[in-house]
Amino acid sequence: MLREMQVGRRRLADYRSLVARDLLAEVRELATAVRGLRVCHVSAHGTRGGIAELLVGMVPLLNDVGVDASWRVLGGSDEYFRVGRALHDGLQGAPTAISDHDMRVYERHSLLNAGGMTGHFDVVIAHDPHPLGLRQGLDSDGDTTWIWRCHLDLSEPDPAAVERVRPLLDPFDLGVFHMPSYLAPNLVRDPVVIPPAIDPLTPKNMLLAADDAAHVVSRFGVDPTRPLMTQVSRFEPWKDPMGVIDAFRLAREEVPGLQLALVGPRRTAEASGEDHFQRTRDHAGGDPGIHLLSDEQDLGPVEVNAFQTQADVVVQKSLREGFGLTVTEALWKARPTVASDVGGIPRQITDAVTGYLVDSPERCAARVVDSIRDPAWAHEMALRGKQRVRDEFLTPRLLRDWLGLLRRVAMR
Ligand code: UDP
Repeated sequence: MLREMQVGRRRLADYRSLVARDLLAEVRELATAVRGLRVCHVSAHGTRGGIAELLVGMVPLLNDVGVDASWRVLGGSDEYFRVGRALHDGLQGAPTAISDHDMRVYERHSLLNAGGMTGHFDVVIAHDPHPLGLRQGLDSDGDTTWIWRCHLDLSEPDPAAVERVRPLLDPFDLGVFHMPSYLAPNLVRDPVVIPPAIDPLTPKNMLLAADDAAHVVSRFGVDPTRPLMTQVSRFEPWKDPMGVIDAFRLAREEVPGLQLALVGPRRTAEASGEDHFQRTRDHAGGDPGIHLLSDEQDLGPVEVNAFQTQADVVVQKSLREGFGLTVTEALWKARPTVASDVGGIPRQITDAVTGYLVDSPERCAARVVDSIRDPAWAHEMALRGKQRVRDEFLTPRLLRDWLGLLRRVAMR
C-alpha cells in the first residue's frame, strides 16, 4: 500500500546564483533549529501534478539542510482514489454526492495505508484530502504534529464535501494554505499561509536553448516557424481545455497560422471517471492546428519545458485554480502569459504589468492576439513576471517558510 518515494539529492548551495544571498543565509539560520527533526510528507501521487512537483524539490533540500525528511505515497483501489478525488473536487466547489459507502471505502483504505506508516515522526504533512484519513488510523502518543497542506481553493466549497472532511481534519494540529483567501472558516484550528514555488534546477524549469525547444516541438508535429499558444494542464473541466480551444479559434482569425498545443497527462483519477482527454479531442474535431499531447506520447519534463519555451503565448484558462504552478513556470521562462483571474494566478500576474488576466474565451483570444502583435511589450511584461518569480516563488523561499513553521512546531 503506502510506499516510500526515493528522492535524489539537491544542495542549497546550487541555488546561489539564482536567488538573493540573504535568503540562503536565512534558510541556514532557521535550519539549525530543526536539525534531525523527523518529517514525513504524504501525498496521493508520486508523479505528475503540482504536489509531486513541489515534493521532488523540497524533500531533498530539507535533508540537505539537516532535517530528516521523507515522502510516502498512498496506495489503493481506483474506487478509493475516486472518493479522494471527489473530496478534492468538492472542497474546490464542485457539487459532489459522496455516499456513506464511499466514505467506508475511503476509511478502509486509509487504515491500510496507515499500517505502512512505520517509524516515528515528529511531524506528518498530509497533502490535500486523500491522506487525511491516515491520522485516525494511527495510535498517537501526542508527540507527532499533524499538518494538513491544502493546495486547494477552499473559498467556495461544496458544503456536503466540507462535512465529510471536517471529522477527518478534526485531529489535525495545523493547516497550511497557498493564500489567505483559500481558508475555509472553522475547518482547521491553526491556519498558516505559505505560497508554493517552483524549482529552477529541474529539467522542467532549466533554461532550454531556443533551437532545442524548436527541435523538440517539431518532433510532435508542431511547426516551429509558426506562432504557438500552449496550455500545460491536466485534462479536466477546471482547466477548461474546451475554453482554450474556443479562445484559440477566435485568436487564429486574427493571427493566421497560429497553432495550439494542449499538453497534459491523459490519465487522472477523476471522481467522475470521465475521459476529458477524449472529450477535448472531440471538441478539437481533427483541427490540424490543434495538438493534444499527453504522457502517452512520452512527454516528460524536458518536453513540457520545450512547449512552454517555444510558446509565443502561454495560456492558463482555468475556471478554478489552486496556485497555478504552470503560470509560475511560464513566467520563469519569461514567456508572455495570458491567464484567468482565479486562484493564485492574480498573485503572480498583475494585469498588463506581468502578463494579462482574463475572464472569458473572448478576452483570452484578444490578449493572445495583443501579445503576438506586440512581442516587444509582451516580452517586457514577461521579464517583470520572471523577476516576481525570482523574488517570491522559487524553492529557497518555500524552504525558508517551511523551516520557519517547523521551528515553531519544534518549539511547542
Ligand atoms: N505537468 C507536467 N506534465 C504535464 C502536465 C502538467 O509535468 O503533462 C506539471 C506542470 O508543469 C505543473 C504541474 O504539473 O508543474 C501542475 O501544477 P498546477 O499548480 O498548474 O496545477 P495542478 O495540477 O496542481 O492543479
